[in-house]
Amino acid sequence: MTDNCIFCKIANGEIPSATLYEDDDFKVILDVSPAAKGHMLILPRQHYADIMAMPEELTAKAFVLAKKMAAKLEKVLECDGINLVQNNHEAAGQTVFHFHIHVIPRYAKDKLGIGWKPGKLSDADRDELVEKFKTIV
Ligand code: AMP
Ligand code: ZN
Repeated sequence: MTDNCIFCKIANGEIPSATLYEDDDFKVILDVSPAAKGHMLILPRQHYADIMAMPEELTAKAFVLAKKMAAKLEKVLECDGINLVQNNHEAAGQTVFHFHIHVIPRYAKDKLGIGWKPGKLSDADRDELVEKFKTIV
């Protein structure tokens, strides 16, 4: 547990939350400022700032849990789709620096705007990245 981390306090019960699921490793809560009704957050009980800091086994468990919660959410709300969103670092929109996965219900005509303007993969970027990823471990 890290001092002054709101998600550490929530995940360990120091601050109350609307909890949908919990086990030894995780707490799943409703987001207080939801993008849509049912927007939930998967929180590990232990503090890791982002996905790069997370142990691989716990990361795998987090995404399996997100899959299970998404399946339940689909049944509960009969939504048309679900986004899993996971932000790392401020530039990517992370505002709470304790790893979490957003599970967000979507509807055919909602205007949530989770997305980006598609670009064009240039030949130079393609060749550079394919080569560089061969050398990175
Ligand atoms: P991110 O921007 O990916 O770091 O997401 C942080 C999320 O945490 C936002 O969607 C907030 O609405 C949510 N959030 C912040 N504080 C709380 C809280 N006390 N309880 C529930 N959700 C929270
Ligand atoms: Zn924390």
